[in-house]
Amino acid sequence: MMGKSHFIIGTGVTLSAMRLLGYEITIPAAAVAALSSLLPDIDEPNSLLVRKALPEPLLRLLQVALIAGAIYLYLAEIAAPPWNLVLALLVGSVSFLPGRRLRHLVMLLIAVGLLAFAEVYAPWNAIAACILVIATVVPHRGLTHTLYALGGWTALLYFASSGLADGGSLWIAGGMAYALHLAADIMTRRGITPLPPLPLKLRLKLMSTGTKKGDRVEKVFVVLALAFALYTFVLLPFSG
Ligand SMILES: [Zn+2]
Repeated sequence: MMGKSHFIIGTGVTLSAMRLLGYEITIPAAAVAALSSLLPDIDEPNSLLVRKALPEPLLRLLQVALIAGAIYLYLAEIAAPPWNLVLALLVGSVSFLPGRRLRHLVMLLIAVGLLAFAEVYAPWNAIAACILVIATVVPHRGLTHTLYALGGWTALLYFASSGLADGGSLWIAGGMAYALHLAADIMTRRGITPLPPLPLKLRLKLMSTGTKKGDRVEKVFVVLALAFALYTFVLLPFSG
């Protein structure tokens, strides 16, 4: 299923359901719902979340900066020869890593930085660092589409936000949006394996991405999610 559909279904249905259940919808809660609707696909090589976080031009810029840094290290002789050459080759070689590897390296460095220097933003720095580390270490389409990941993410939000004044609904927003992503993926041909190593596979094959029928079914669910949101946020307040 496409990232855009996940985003609309996960966020739209979560916020509508929260509204109907009487939870206050704060900006952090809406942001967590939006993030959580895309989070399970963070292990896709071209996931929307990862691409948006580190877009291609930024990656190219980084490569150029690394090469420039390598040349500088060589010419400025900060270390005595031949170590300046060794240092330059080391820095320069990082820029030749394939895009995926380079991206992961940068994400890990950002995670370390967040944990070390962004204490002021606790618990958000820890949550963001966790996501970045998870994104770089989980195997392709493995762990993130399981009930363990759903439970882990919900628990992380619950404990991280327990100290916040208006953090009460964050774990509900995140847990619900994450669960909706998994539910939507059950309807695809790929399905999910919710409890590995149990060989249980859940899939309904309603939507096979790329086929005409699959795309139509996907659109129907997107429209239904939008209609639900329209009903809860626009029509319901006026119906008395
Ligand atoms: Zn998915």
